[in-house]
Amino acid sequence: MLLSNKVCVITGAASRRGIGRATARLFALHGGRAIILDLDPAQAAEAAAELGEAHRGLACDVTDRDACFAAAGRIVEEFGRIDVLVNNAGITQPLKLMDIGPKNYEAVTDVSLRGTLYMSQAVVPHMRERKSGSIVCISSVSAQRGGGIFGGPHYSAAKAGVLGLAKAMARELGPDNVRVNSVTPGLIQTDITGDKLTAELRTEILKGIPLNRLGDADDVARSCLFLASELSSYITGATLDVNGGMLI
Ligand code: NAD
Repeated sequence: MLLSNKVCVITGAASRRGIGRATARLFALHGGRAIILDLDPAQAAEAAAELGEAHRGLACDVTDRDACFAAAGRIVEEFGRIDVLVNNAGITQPLKLMDIGPKNYEAVTDVSLRGTLYMSQAVVPHMRERKSGSIVCISSVSAQRGGGIFGGPHYSAAKAGVLGLAKAMARELGPDNVRVNSVTPGLIQTDITGDKLTAELRTEILKGIPLNRLGDADDVARSCLFLASELSSYITGATLDVNGGMLI
């Protein structure tokens, strides 16, 4: 079991078809205790209940620093430790440059960037104390290519910020044996992308994906498992592309 008894916190993990939920499910399969954080307490609890008694679902808005610290405190109190954090919560808006207003900018950057910072700050003291931990940050191919179909320039900026933040955290936390890595998913079929793809658009997109299929949440979950577990014990500050070859 790759994550035997490891306490694994995953943000934005209640969405039924989402990357976070698939990651929580896979972590549980590998012996981890999944702590599902999301906006709606009932949805988070339901997602955790589906996995079994060893798991928990808690409400936590990652843009709220106090809420992040309160959630981490509660988890440490109940479980005694936090071994893994997956910063997965994120929202997108398909806007063009000139349509991005201050509220759009704030909403998108707040969840991905502020959320990754605050939630990491909340778990790092516990990881440092135990000289062990793995943080996985979910960025996006949009950060690398500049834009995408579902994300505007502010989304690309937020996700590029996540890559820089993750590398800086990896450098600072390395001496305490806390690893920090990023995953850059390509086009993954979840509620964010949903059923918004027309057949024509899908055909067009597939021309740019050597593996000739869209990704699914489990593709990303498996990369999170690798980075969360000791399989990646000498890897920190890295970015793992999970995009079917989109950037070749
Ligand atoms: P999703 O919408 O299914 O899941 C996102 C989850 O985040 C939802 O459960 C939502 O409630 C939660 N959330 C939103 N704001 C939050 C907040 N303030 N605090 C806590 N939780 C919050 O989307 P997904 O496709 O599974 O996306 C997961 C991550 O992967 C996101 O960061 C997204 O940007 C990234 N990503 C997705 C794709 C894709 O193609 N689906 C591609 C690249 C990157």
